[in-house]
Amino acid sequence: MGVLGGKRILVTGGAGFLGSHLCKRLLDDGNEVLCLDNYFTGTKENVEALMDDKRFELMRHDVTFPLYVEVDEIYNLACPASPIHYQHDPVQTTKTSVHGAINMLGLAKRVRAKIMQASTSEVYGDPETHPQHEAYWGHVNPIGVRSCYDEGKRCAETLFFDYHRQHGLEIKVARIFNTYGPNMHPADGRVVSNFIMQALRSEPITIYGDGTQTRSFCYVDDMIDGFVRLMSTDSAVTGPINLGNPVEFSMKELAQLVLRLTGSASKLVYRELPSDDPRQRCPDICAAKQLLGWEPTTQLEAGLTETIEYFEKIMSREDGRGLLNTG
Ligand code: NAD
Ligand code: UDP
Repeated sequence: MGVLGGKRILVTGGAGFLGSHLCKRLLDDGNEVLCLDNYFTGTKENVEALMDDKRFELMRHDVTFPLYVEVDEIYNLACPASPIHYQHDPVQTTKTSVHGAINMLGLAKRVRAKIMQASTSEVYGDPETHPQHEAYWGHVNPIGVRSCYDEGKRCAETLFFDYHRQHGLEIKVARIFNTYGPNMHPADGRVVSNFIMQALRSEPITIYGDGTQTRSFCYVDDMIDGFVRLMSTDSAVTGPINLGNPVEFSMKELAQLVLRLTGSASKLVYRELPSDDPRQRCPDICAAKQLLGWEPTTQLEAGLTETIEYFEKIMSREDGRGLLNTG
């Protein structure tokens, strides 16, 4: 893709898992980065290594309030992503997606910035088609426990497309499928972090349901590359575009792989399946391949090995920093 640098870029949710990797990548590409976060699930530690760079600025701000800054591009990532975090205060989750989108779109309109929305595979709900193609409208429960997230993200997509049609804004909508890697919150309850932490602590691995439900897991570096490629497309490319790894695994297979890679003797235990838990999820990434020349290159085993190393490192920190803040 060449060096893209020289821009002033706002990353909302920049101290979170994906945001922190994105900030680093944008700095490496030669840009100035304004990282904005309210630290609900993100931490300053995630971006600690970037603080010495004069082109990096960290700002505490909640996207549900308006923001006045001068930037060329906006990546709107602010929103808790794990079910336990987004269900902790569901009203705030919807506000973050909807008011946050309105505020960031308003900012983009004022300064004529390009703006990318971190949408999600959850907009497909519990899908009736497989794999999920961007043209599929979804199968979402509007009143369930996941709805604050799913419907909030769907409404954010609507707002992005209305600002595009009504105000001519240059938008990019990425539908992100399950992503994992270093800087994931160790207590976020997501399957990859749960299984690794349980294996490392020799605790039982909790499989929800019978473990035959599937997900496809994308390593964070691949995902960030997808974001940057999407942002650099010409204005005709708006998305929505699926970004994810199309290789599907059942939760039982994932558990077995984590046990092998950690060398843990943890037992598998079965727990009740959470409500509205999708049976199957796998992206159709033909559009990303064609429009962005993008596809994931990191195999699950290699990505998990990096992630396990990260969790081992934070577990060994004397003060256990990062393990206590469950948001
Ligand atoms: P994360 O929880 O690590 O990061 C989200 C960040 O947003 C955190 O730093 C949090 O403190 C911040 N935040 C939350 N509410 C905010 C608010 N009102 N104002 C300002 N900051 C706020 O999650 P992540 O995995 O990095 O996800 C980033 C984005 O990508 C989210 O929008 C999420 O919905 C989307 N996404 C992620 C995945 C995934 O698998 N990681 C999948 C689909 C979509
Ligand atoms: N899951 C599991 N054990 C856990 C955590 C999650 O079996 O300790 C399952 C969960 O029920 C779901 C899948 O793993 O079927 C992925 O869950 P996650 O919360 O990571 O993401 P999402 O459901 O949003 O895809």
